[in-house]
Amino acid sequence: MPEYKLKFEIVPDGCWHSNLRSCLKPKAWDVVRKDAYSRANGRCMICGRKATRLEAHERWSYDEENGVQTLEDVIAICHSCHSVIHIGRTQLMGDEDKAIAHFCKVNKCSFADYIRELGKANEEHRRRNLVSEWSTDMRKLEEILNKERLYHNS
Ligand SMILES: [Zn+2]
Repeated sequence: MPEYKLKFEIVPDGCWHSNLRSCLKPKAWDVVRKDAYSRANGRCMICGRKATRLEAHERWSYDEENGVQTLEDVIAICHSCHSVIHIGRTQLMGDEDKAIAHFCKVNKCSFADYIRELGKANEEHRRRNLVSEWSTDMRKLEEILNKERLYHNS
């Protein structure tokens, strides 16, 4: 089974903290966002293509057994990759065709692979929604903010 470079990341319904932008002070979010952009160096951190406008994306992992969502990283990616990741929203906006094309191109796979991966992601989403309450591990965020603080103080 190939490990795809570009994957769907469907956030469980009960994960209210998953939108960092809305729960951080604007200044802190700005630091986190810029840290991602500087690491990306003008290229999407998933597909690698050059992009004049990158978007910050929060990556979470989910420990279903213990009900913990952990912030793994904040990365800078292109709009096309972002619309694949948030496929639910993209489908609602009627842009799935573009997302399918991008998914297949980046992952070098077929439409059948796309359908299968989407099915798996939806299944995972249903399962994670069974967790009644998620707690949040944001140590990664502290790490990013501390790194910036150290950098500016030295
Ligand atoms: Zn990309």
